[in-house]
Amino acid sequence: MAKPIVQELRPAAEVLANYGPVIGLEVHVQLKTATKAFCACSTRFGDPPNSTTCPVCLGLPGALPVLNRRAVELGIRAALALHLTIQETSRFARKNYFYPDLPKGYQISMYELPLATGGWLDIDHEAQTKRIGITRLHLEDDAAKNLHEGFSDSQKNSYVDYNRGGTPLAEIVSEPDMRSPSEAHAYLTALKQVLLYTEVSDCNMEEGSLRCDANVSVRRRGAEKFGTKAEVKNLNSFRFLQRALEYEIERQVAVLESGGKIDQETRLWNVAAGRTEPMRSKEFAHDYRYFPEPDLLPLRVSPAWSDEIAELLPELPDAKRQRFVNDFAITPYDAGVLASSRELANYFEDVIAAGAAPKLAANWIQVELLRQLNEAGKEITASPVAPGPFAELLAKVASGEINAATGKKVFVSMFTTGKSAAEIIAAEGLSQVSDAGEIERLCRDVIEKNPDNAAKYRAGNEGLFKFFVGQAMRASRGQANPQTVNEILKRLLS
Ligand SMILES: [Zn+2]
Repeated sequence: MAKPIVQELRPAAEVLANYGPVIGLEVHVQLKTATKAFCACSTRFGDPPNSTTCPVCLGLPGALPVLNRRAVELGIRAALALHLTIQETSRFARKNYFYPDLPKGYQISMYELPLATGGWLDIDHEAQTKRIGITRLHLEDDAAKNLHEGFSDSQKNSYVDYNRGGTPLAEIVSEPDMRSPSEAHAYLTALKQVLLYTEVSDCNMEEGSLRCDANVSVRRRGAEKFGTKAEVKNLNSFRFLQRALEYEIERQVAVLESGGKIDQETRLWNVAAGRTEPMRSKEFAHDYRYFPEPDLLPLRVSPAWSDEIAELLPELPDAKRQRFVNDFAITPYDAGVLASSRELANYFEDVIAAGAAPKLAANWIQVELLRQLNEAGKEITASPVAPGPFAELLAKVASGEINAATGKKVFVSMFTTGKSAAEIIAAEGLSQVSDAGEIERLCRDVIEKNPDNAAKYRAGNEGLFKFFVGQAMRASRGQANPQTVNEILKRLLS
C-alpha cells in the first residue's frame, strides 16, 4: 500500500483573504464531426473497443493523414463566435511524447501558428458582466483511451481502446483573467453555451466531449506579479472544476504561508480523495520537440471561406438575452434562464408566437414547465406540452376563465395526459366561478359557520381576513375568482 499523502493544513479564512487567485482555463472540446480529424473512421461514441480504427489513427508506418474539412469549419465557427481572428495561414505540428494511448508517438496539434487568436467572451458573474480574454483556438487530434479497470486482470494489466484516438478537438485557451473559482465556473458555463448554440460540439461531459485543465496561481492581495502556477488536469465536470480550484488555492496559500514555494507542476484532480495530487513536474514546450507536421500542408483559410461561415452563425446567447430583455420586457435574470439553451429559447418564442403574453410565458415556463420536465427527467425538446397548447392554457389564465391555481393543476394534467387545457377544464368542471351571486352565497355560508372569527375580525383583528378568503376558496374547490371573493368578503364583513 502506498503511504497516504499527508493532507496539507487548511489555511484559516482570514489568511486566505490575504491572497487572490489567478486562473486561466484550457478547454478541450470535441468537434461534432461524423469522422475523425485525419481519417475516415467514425467518431461514434460507445462502439465495441477498437472497432473504429484504421492505419492512420493507429499510427501504422506509411499511413498518411488527410485533414477533415468539417473539423476546420467547426473550429472556425467556434473561433468567430468567440471573437477570435482567423489566421489565413495556420499549421499543424507534431507534439512528441510517449504514452500507450498515443500510437503515433506524437499528437498532431497546432503550435506556433494556431487557427485563430485574440478573442473574448463576456461572462455574467455576481450581477456584473466581465470580459475574459481568449488567447487562441487551435485544432488537434485526441489520444485514445487507456482502460485501467473493469477487467478480471485489471490488477495486473491495462487495456487500450483506440476508437477515440484521432477524434478532432479544438483547444480554447483563455487569458489568466479569472479571479475566483466561481468566475471560472461562469466562464465555462458561458463557453459551453456558445459551443452548443453554434453546434460546434455536443459538449457531453460524461462522454469526454468537453474537458478542462486549469492554470492556477495565487498572489498576495495588491501584488502585481503573478505567482508560480500549477496546472490541474482532468476536470471533466463543472463541480470538479470549482472544487479542484478551491482546493488548489488553499493548498498553494498553505505552502506559501509555511514558507515554502510553489512548484511549477502538473497536478491531477483526484475525484475520490477530493484533492489535487502531483502528477509530474510541468513539462515545458521544448520537452515536446514541436516541429511542423511534414505530412500535412499548411492550412489556408481564405477570408471568403471564413466570411461564408460567419454568415451562417446563429444568434449567440448574449444577443438573444439582450433581445429578450428589449423585446419582451422581461428581467435579465429571466432572459438568462430562458436563453440558457437554444431549444428552451425557441420554445419560449414559440409560446409567444402562439399568442401568450411574454411575462406570463416567462414565469410559467421557468416555474411550472421546467419543474415538470425536471421531475420527469425530460429535455425541453421532449416536452409533452407543445408551445401551442401551452399558449392556450396561458390565455385561459390571462382571461380569468380559470384562476392561476387551477391553471397550475390543469398544466400538470396536460403534462401527464397530453390532453388540451379545454378538454381538462370541461371534463373536470374547473372553470373559474366568477358569478357574483354564487360567490356571495359561498361567502355568506363561510361567515355563518365561523361566527367567532367574524366577530373578532369586526373587532379589529384584520389578520383573520385571510382565513375567510381561504375558507371561501376551499368551498369553491379553488375555482372562485379570488378578486371577486375578496371584494364580496370585504363588503359582507364590514
Ligand atoms: Zn482511422
